[in-house]
Amino acid sequence: MTTLSTDPLLGGPTLPQERRIVTELPGPASRAILERQRAAVAAGVSSAMPIAAVAAGGGVVVDADGNSFIDLGSGIAVTSVGNAHPAVAEAVAAQAARLTHTCFMISPYESYVQVAEALNRLTPGDHDKRTALFNSGAEAVENAVKIARTYTGKQAVVAFDNAYHGRTNLTMALTAKNRPYKHGFGPFAPEVHRVPASYPFRDGLSGPEAARRAIEQIEIQIGADNLAAVIIEPIQGEGGFIVPADGFLEQVVAWCRANDVVFIADEVQTGFCRTGTMFVSEQFGIVPDLVTTAKGIAGGMPLAGVTGRAEIMDSVHASGLGGTYGGNPVACAAALAAIDAYETEDLGGRANRLGEILVERLAAIRQTDPRIGDIRGRGAMIAAEFVDPATGDPAPAIVKELAAACARAGVIVLTCGTYGNVIRFLPPLVIGDELLHDALDVVADELQKI
Ligand code: PMP
Repeated sequence: MTTLSTDPLLGGPTLPQERRIVTELPGPASRAILERQRAAVAAGVSSAMPIAAVAAGGGVVVDADGNSFIDLGSGIAVTSVGNAHPAVAEAVAAQAARLTHTCFMISPYESYVQVAEALNRLTPGDHDKRTALFNSGAEAVENAVKIARTYTGKQAVVAFDNAYHGRTNLTMALTAKNRPYKHGFGPFAPEVHRVPASYPFRDGLSGPEAARRAIEQIEIQIGADNLAAVIIEPIQGEGGFIVPADGFLEQVVAWCRANDVVFIADEVQTGFCRTGTMFVSEQFGIVPDLVTTAKGIAGGMPLAGVTGRAEIMDSVHASGLGGTYGGNPVACAAALAAIDAYETEDLGGRANRLGEILVERLAAIRQTDPRIGDIRGRGAMIAAEFVDPATGDPAPAIVKELAAACARAGVIVLTCGTYGNVIRFLPPLVIGDELLHDALDVVADELQKI
């Protein structure tokens, strides 16, 4: 049974869909929690929004003081189906009341198998596939690399400029940006090599030119004989929502296929309807050998997957993959409900509609504000890159100030970018048009004041 209530502490789509700031920010209740946070939580785990959340749903997040913020971040592309989605909440509650854990390595259960079947069906390509489940995006990436090394018998891994793949040791090595992700945390995993990506706004190269540049560097500096895998986010997320030029990904994939190199698409941020299709690889016409997933997969519960060609996935020896919690039954139940919502609520179509609104509104702002150098993305994964109009140099200060001003006015927006000069828009796919327009009015107004 779905619990829909007017209790303000219950989240989900019945929360009033409005922007409402009723106290100073942070309000007294949030302030008290933030003070305890400072005393109890490690300083390295810092929070962008100075509010303590108590409920969320649809397109809003409500804080401990009753302030209601428009959510344009979805907890970094996680709650795409909507926070506390009724079907997800119900599935979690029902599963938690029945079986919370066995460890899949001790005894299997059907929901893990069902999630694997769903991922095998939904990821690009109609070849025979297998899936393994984990807890986080970083863990999925780590395992994709382990699998590629086993299958190829080779060691080197190529990642790209602007890449973000996580915060574990190997994924820090794969990640391109020092601060805040890597600074002081080395030494990093060996046999990770970085090559230039495609960043049309900044490099001006065509897709084939950018691919040639990357491939030439791989051949000269590493050699296909040593290379197990190439890993890339088809649209780079933390790096700035960078959409590669046409032809770039196709050529890299073709080179990998011709050279016995496993091509891994990291769709942790782009997956699950975020870009208008279930996975963004489809839009570039590529079929990855392995796909990593997490974030949107389970409506906010921690779950991640590696899905790929059966012969690659099955090359690993028995018990070579696993972990205590990977594919936890409660997370799997949430994933099945979330995946059903993506499919039956046409959230891909909704992502495209939200993307149209975002691009239209940002383009209108840009007409009179040359500090917006580029607007890019797919579906409801849209970003604006800010520059100094005189030089084209990145303008990170504007972005920082704009995000803070929007927060004060009741809108959660996230920043990103190799140069920290990108505002990214990742609304829950269930946000209403009116609420999105209200949030973009705030963005436009606040930008004018900077
Ligand atoms: N890969 C990509 C593309 C990501 O965007 C992220 C998270 N931002 C990760 C991997 C790491 O995921 P997690 O934080 O769940 O470990």
